[in-house]
Amino acid sequence: MSRKIVSPGLVLREIPVKEKNSLLTVLTATDGLLTATAYGARGSGSSLASGTKLFHYAEFVFLESRGHYKVDSVQCLEQFFGLSHSVESLAAASYFAQLLYDVSLAGESDAAVLRLALNALYALAQGKRPHGLVKAAFELRLMALSGFEPELEFCAGCGSLERVFFSMPDASAYCQNCAIPRKSAGDRIYPLYPAALDAMQYILSADMPKLFSFSLGNEAAENLCFLCELYVREQMGRSYDSLEIYHSLCN
Ligand SMILES: [Zn+2]
Repeated sequence: MSRKIVSPGLVLREIPVKEKNSLLTVLTATDGLLTATAYGARGSGSSLASGTKLFHYAEFVFLESRGHYKVDSVQCLEQFFGLSHSVESLAAASYFAQLLYDVSLAGESDAAVLRLALNALYALAQGKRPHGLVKAAFELRLMALSGFEPELEFCAGCGSLERVFFSMPDASAYCQNCAIPRKSAGDRIYPLYPAALDAMQYILSADMPKLFSFSLGNEAAENLCFLCELYVREQMGRSYDSLEIYHSLCN
């Protein structure tokens, strides 16, 4: 007996395999990460051709048999065409896909993470917002959704409202007085600009459709991007080759 799963899903990985098949990793709404073979998807005229490419969002019907899944049918809902107009956006999207793969689990659906992923890809594809800010907002919100929300309301040392440093190991903001001894002791503590702090708090609380609707001056934007990227690295405990590619394209 085969089990049927019907769910919308976002293709995070697409690996060509023999005989024009594709091995897909899909972030599904109902079953979290799911790996499935799309038989014949790379053949001309295949009904599976649309919806099974990297970054396609589609309504899938999967059939499971003895622990193996195959794509039975698919209806593409969104292809994020605009991603192909900018190599930087495409590289950022590849990085997003790797991060989503790392924070998501098989069999555990997370509607909020999928919604964030779709909104972030949409913002990149549209190209109306700077890709650096889209990336920073995606990184921070994804970390918060994954259980790593930083403490920004007060100084973590004394409770004061002055917050001008961010500690990576503590995932917390600090005032000048509390930060200095920690910095002297060798803690990785970084300046936190007021506008970057406001942006971080906005990113953590904004309604999803408005998540990317903020702007920042150059220095604050640089500070935000630096902190959010480092924060991901701290929490995930690894580096990403797609991120190196993204930076090589932006320089
Ligand atoms: Zn303090």
